Amino acid sequence: MPKNLEHAAGLERAGELKSRIQDYLDVEKSIETGFRMRERSQKNKEKIMRYFNAKEADWNNWGWQMKNRISDVHILKNFIPLQDFEVKELDEISRQFRWAISPYYLSLIDTADYRNSPIYKQAVPDIREIQNDSGYDDPMGEAETCPAPTITRRYPDRLIINVTNQCGMYCRHCQRRRNFEQKDTHASMANLVLALDYIRNNEEIRDVLITGGDALMLSNSVLDWLLSELDNMEHVEIKRLGTRTPVTLPQRITPELCAVLARHDPLYINTQFNSPMEVTPEAKKACDRLVKAGVVLGNQAVLLKDINDNAHIMKKLNQELLKIRVRPYYIFHAKQVKGTAHFMTNIETGLDIMEKLRGYTSGLAIPTYIINAPHGFGKTPLLPNYMLALDDEELTIRTWENRVIKCEPMEPDKMKSGF
Ligand SMILES: *Cc1c(COP(=O)(O)O)cnc(C)c1O
Repeated sequence: MPKNLEHAAGLERAGELKSRIQDYLDVEKSIETGFRMRERSQKNKEKIMRYFNAKEADWNNWGWQMKNRISDVHILKNFIPLQDFEVKELDEISRQFRWAISPYYLSLIDTADYRNSPIYKQAVPDIREIQNDSGYDDPMGEAETCPAPTITRRYPDRLIINVTNQCGMYCRHCQRRRNFEQKDTHASMANLVLALDYIRNNEEIRDVLITGGDALMLSNSVLDWLLSELDNMEHVEIKRLGTRTPVTLPQRITPELCAVLARHDPLYINTQFNSPMEVTPEAKKACDRLVKAGVVLGNQAVLLKDINDNAHIMKKLNQELLKIRVRPYYIFHAKQVKGTAHFMTNIETGLDIMEKLRGYTSGLAIPTYIINAPHGFGKTPLLPNYMLALDDEELTIRTWENRVIKCEPMEPDKMKSGF
């Protein structure tokens, strides 16, 4: 082939591939991330610190962040220009549902445009929580799959221990909202001991998820004890913690906590970033510390209307996560939880997002889209369909670019001889 034509086909294809990403490149620069909005959140932080008369060391202390969580609209309105009707609504909701925002998470809100802020929507109650009562309190029937105190078992080889109902923040879209109407309570030691007995006596359990609430609301010493008990069971191969603190309270990820976690490998932490705005320098620092402690990080996003129900935003979120070494694991279709109907999306929206991830970005940035079957029958993946037909003669597939390709079934006993 003449030298000048050598790369012609490759160049043409490259041009075609470049055109595949143009619509994303056109909007990418306008997608806000925690890093891009740094200046604004720093200003918010200074204002909040002045209000609380706090020092930098207070801000960086998770105890201070927890103690000064904002859960009163009359304090919130010092930072966000709420209108009178909103103050009234928030007062009304507060009588029924708890809410609490850490000063840190509050600092991420764009106060000039708070009604459209994905941070505000996740943290501050909306009147629709009490106006629309469609949905269920316990859509997954967790109460029905509880063989021992604090345990939810829905699969053959793994289970959940719910160690607390406490969280750094009470996400408005929470699937366990029914648990946070009450006060903060950790599981009693007696119940944890019963839960551990159950695991000890059921040797097929090889994977134990400690969650809640938020697993990292437990003290370092209780976590250390619980993880040690699990380490002492030979059949428990891995442990996982469910926590949203890297997102809502990254100050919780202290060197002391990481020293504890480092003693209990193999340990996985799944967290929940839902917006690229949540991927901040503070979140990165928390994740860096966890990775250095040998923890493997994953993300379980929830598909939420007007927060991340858009392929470009979801792609940016997952790419931002890879930069801080958090591997996208699941995107959950929102459950029909009473008080959260305004967050729900159509399944088509989720499938469209999946369609626009595969091929268009790193496989590492592609989580599995999951819908939860009713009655606790388990997580079920939903996927665009890529296999159109298969018989003895022929396989028909559809590629990420929507090319329909017929080929030989690529199976060992159907291989034709070459030449
Ligand atoms: C989600 C969940 C698990 C873990 O499921 P994976 O798909 O392994 O992440 C285990 N037990 C219960 C009850 C769950 O809800």
